[in-house]
Amino acid sequence: MEMEWDDPLYRSTVALFEHTAEAMDLDVNIRRRLRHPDRAVIVTFPIRMDDGSVEIFHGYRVQHNNTRGPFKGGVRYALDVNLGETTALAMLMTVKCALMGIPFGGAKGGVRVDPTKLSRSELQRLTRRFTAEIINDIGPNFDIPAPDMGTTQQTMAWMMDTYSQNKGRAVPAVVTGKPISIGGSLLRNQATGRGVVYMVEDAAREVNLDLGKASAAVQGFGNVGGEAARRLHQLGVKVVGIGDVHGGIHAPDGIDIPLLDAHFASTGTILGFPGSEDIETSAILELPVDVLIPAATSGVIHEGNVARLRCRILAEGANGPVTAAADGVLRERGDIFVIPDVLANAGGVTVSYFEWVQSLQMFFWSADEIDQRLRQLMSRAFTEVHEVSRDRGVDMRTAAMMHGLARVAEAMKVRGLFP
Ligand code: NAD
Repeated sequence: MEMEWDDPLYRSTVALFEHTAEAMDLDVNIRRRLRHPDRAVIVTFPIRMDDGSVEIFHGYRVQHNNTRGPFKGGVRYALDVNLGETTALAMLMTVKCALMGIPFGGAKGGVRVDPTKLSRSELQRLTRRFTAEIINDIGPNFDIPAPDMGTTQQTMAWMMDTYSQNKGRAVPAVVTGKPISIGGSLLRNQATGRGVVYMVEDAAREVNLDLGKASAAVQGFGNVGGEAARRLHQLGVKVVGIGDVHGGIHAPDGIDIPLLDAHFASTGTILGFPGSEDIETSAILELPVDVLIPAATSGVIHEGNVARLRCRILAEGANGPVTAAADGVLRERGDIFVIPDVLANAGGVTVSYFEWVQSLQMFFWSADEIDQRLRQLMSRAFTEVHEVSRDRGVDMRTAAMMHGLARVAEAMKVRGLFP
């Protein structure tokens, strides 16, 4: 593997592409092409900090494949952002968009920074300068960023404003996941977590699990994990464990999620929640539950802990939460129904697609319309992937990858090779 891309998530993702390509007998030229992104932009840029000092940051925008439509993918602010990880996430976006049948290619971006250590004004300067650095590499018909780990609606508003100031007119469709007041979509904020739970509902039917009597654990209490926990609680699922970057909480009788929201809002942490016990965040993954949702970061389920997983359904809210080695063990175990990331967390990009269409048309849909269309597209994808899994005798992850890659390959073949 060429050293510039090397990273654990990239290695894992290429291994998954290879495994899938083998299983579906993918055209060898397409297989070789998809190992690398079309383009990768690396920028370094200075930001004046509040104390007057100047810091240099590294930023990335990786565009993997745009055969089926404009590049699309989130922007991540985290300390472990690098070229290889960003590339792997862009590769997964290509498959995810194809799998969902939405007309986008795959991209991803990020800045290597701990956003919790920056003030609001430092974050604003960082976002605007990063946007300015990649301004010729994004656009409403070219590459459309969205929020991911460490970025929010506000980040998207600053990106949209920087892009629009540069063009001299409002260009809302350049980003998705922006606030409603500037053309954002209803439900975009909730879409990923809600979609994860729609997939859990579909999987529960397959394994004859009554969610009204089920228990769950969620790692991550941000955009995805928080909303997934809220929806599960509304469905009557007993959420017994929640973890975030600082630690986890465990309550065998169930956590009242609205009360936890209030506790988090007033204390800034989930820890110390009345009626629960503080535990290690990694212990959340090993709780005996019906539904486990990793919704934080990648690589958390690995060779060291995969044998200790005690769930019936594993719904991957996060991107790449299972390493390639652990995935092999899950396939051998065969006792856990895995809803792979490209399917489980596709609600985000699906409502991003709805937001993009609304932004281009300046015509906005009701929350009910969006929710119905989200559920329809996600359940359609679930059924298709489950059929591939049954018909071809492969696990759900391989099936999802096969289904997505087959669509990308078909589009590449019909467009042909330029020149
Ligand atoms: P977020 O920043 O809103 O929340 C991240 C959460 O994970 C926080 O609770 C944080 O404390 C926790 N966390 C971070 N590092 C951790 C660690 N090492 N151990 C335990 N917990 C940790 O991010 P998000 O938008 O909810 O994204 C979470 C995951 O979902 C990411 O993998 C992201 O790529 C994926 N995802 C997000 C979206 C979206 O629409 N936001 C869409 C698809 C996939």
